[in-house]
Amino acid sequence: MLGDPVLREVADPVPEVTDELRRLVSDMFETMYAAEGVGLAAPQIGLAIRVIVVDPHDDDTKPFALFNANVVAQGSETDKGEEGCLSIPGVRDIVERPSSAVVEAIDIEGKPVRIEAQGFLARVLQHEVDHLNGVLFLDHLSPIKRRMALAKWRKSRE
Ligand code: ZN
Repeated sequence: MLGDPVLREVADPVPEVTDELRRLVSDMFETMYAAEGVGLAAPQIGLAIRVIVVDPHDDDTKPFALFNANVVAQGSETDKGEEGCLSIPGVRDIVERPSSAVVEAIDIEGKPVRIEAQGFLARVLQHEVDHLNGVLFLDHLSPIKRRMALAKWRKSRE
């Protein structure tokens, strides 16, 4: 939840994909689906390691997990889209991000993967990799909008 220091840490890479990490991934999928999310990063459940799960709910993309994900390139064009975050319940806002991004990572089999994502998938991946770098979607808002979002979040918790 917002306020947890782990959400502001740069998460560590995992040395290898173990069965323990695969179990963690299935727990993360459960947590994500229970909250009706489209992505979840390990720091959101208190672990400062580079593990994310993603399910953009489109017909072309099956749910997948990535280890040690990094955004290695971003397109020059941007898109605006509404985002929320399971760590900041009750708050959604429009975030401007590059409309395409290239992510390099290791997949569930331990193999290197490179994903050239566009549109919604690019947005989800950038949001989740941000979590691995201690960045929240609020950080992409203007100072005024960020203050309003934080006020809304505090109010929703009263
Ligand atoms: Zn989030």
